[in-house]
Amino acid sequence: MKKRFSAAAIIFAEILIFAVVSWSQDIEVNLKVLSASIVRVEGRFLNGNLKQSKRNWTFLRSIAGADNLGARISDFSLTDEQGRIVSFKKLIDGEYLADGEANSFQYQINLKPLPNAATLAHVSWLKDEQGILMLDDLLPQFFGDKQPISAKVKLDLPSEWKIISSEKISNDNIFLVKSIEKAVFAVGKNWRGQEISNLNLVISGEWQFTDAEAAKVAGEIFDEYLKLFGEIPAEKAQIFLHRFPKETKFGRWEAETRGTNLMIASSAMPFKTLSLQRLHEQLRHELFHLWIPNNLALTGNYDWFYEGFTVYQALRLGIAKNQIRFEDFLDTLSQAYNLDNFQSQKLSLIESSKNRWSGASNQVYARGMLVAFLCDLAILKQSRGKRSINDIFRGIYQKHRVPNESADGNAVILKTLNNYSELNLIIANYVQGTENINWKTDLESVGIEEEGEKSSIKLNVKTKLSGKQKDLLDKLGYNNWRKISEKSK
Ligand SMILES: [Zn+2]
Repeated sequence: MKKRFSAAAIIFAEILIFAVVSWSQDIEVNLKVLSASIVRVEGRFLNGNLKQSKRNWTFLRSIAGADNLGARISDFSLTDEQGRIVSFKKLIDGEYLADGEANSFQYQINLKPLPNAATLAHVSWLKDEQGILMLDDLLPQFFGDKQPISAKVKLDLPSEWKIISSEKISNDNIFLVKSIEKAVFAVGKNWRGQEISNLNLVISGEWQFTDAEAAKVAGEIFDEYLKLFGEIPAEKAQIFLHRFPKETKFGRWEAETRGTNLMIASSAMPFKTLSLQRLHEQLRHELFHLWIPNNLALTGNYDWFYEGFTVYQALRLGIAKNQIRFEDFLDTLSQAYNLDNFQSQKLSLIESSKNRWSGASNQVYARGMLVAFLCDLAILKQSRGKRSINDIFRGIYQKHRVPNESADGNAVILKTLNNYSELNLIIANYVQGTENINWKTDLESVGIEEEGEKSSIKLNVKTKLSGKQKDLLDKLGYNNWRKISEKSK
């Protein structure tokens, strides 16, 4: 008797839990693949949180330089709670104004890969029985008092297709998505999975390396960042590595880390060593984003920090792991310097972070990386090699990781950096200001010299070095290949 009672209680509890979970979703949607690249979307509101969205219907217009995404929408229609058709005016592609409040929406979306290859790690696509679905550009943009917007999502796919996602699965092909903005699904026939510590590496296509070799690279890099930050950033991360779904130039790649999803679209490299090096380069950058900025409770456009400093950190790890030479590191820095010097009209990094996708992207990355380098040098010098840029990353992460209170990214980063008095001038001149980078004395302190003029300089390590210069250079990773090859002897 007692036993039966508890079984009933368990069933009851499960029903209750399921009901609570499904009630708490903001919307319910059904995505059905109709043909090679057409998806039919049907959805409805499940609670009143999204009232503003019931008249204004807008789709994401642009992302990562892809414009007019709304042109992919067709056969749009709306119905109210009683199932009556709600008429609307189409304002522009992907923007509609309803005559009354609608409760359900229906349309088709064409997911044929966009012509601009730069978009292909950032926008949903579907081709040759394979694709990546990102809800942010598939669904209308919803407005609610409470963010993020959650959804119960059903994927209706051809029978042999797989679905890979970190979203919670509630039933066959039904997912309980916490945030529409972050949710990503890999769908199709040809995905292969590899589990590595807290990562799920999902690969499609043929590569010069094996899946196991790719998994080893991902695991090694993840472990390095784990050591740096001291904890795993979030629930299991997914890495989706695939070929561009259209013809692209040799060696080209695009990547994005959205929430805990890393999307990497890449073309072929000529040799296995180059292929693995390329993967290493992609993952050094993208995996870092799992912590910074994706697990930070910081808002606003502080891209100059989380992109520029990530580029720099990825280079630092590249040297430490013997993936790039110190000369490559110096070459990247000089290229960034030349590019920055070449800009005729300068914006501050704070300003250019607001326009990252409309032309200021180079500056955000290049000048942001130079600032990271100068900060690293200054901290190393001031602390005689005891501290480095790692202390900045760790400090920011510990204080501002989720679920800490949300704060403005630029304000927090500027304040944190300015706590190091040796960084004050760097921040004033090169982050908030638009001064040309004048790094001669900083370079001198580590025994690096400039060769050449204004916009075509090259950096070299001096032939004669003082003991102090040698020590600091070593901290930056100079001579690292020697250390590694000695160890492996
Ligand atoms: Zn990035």
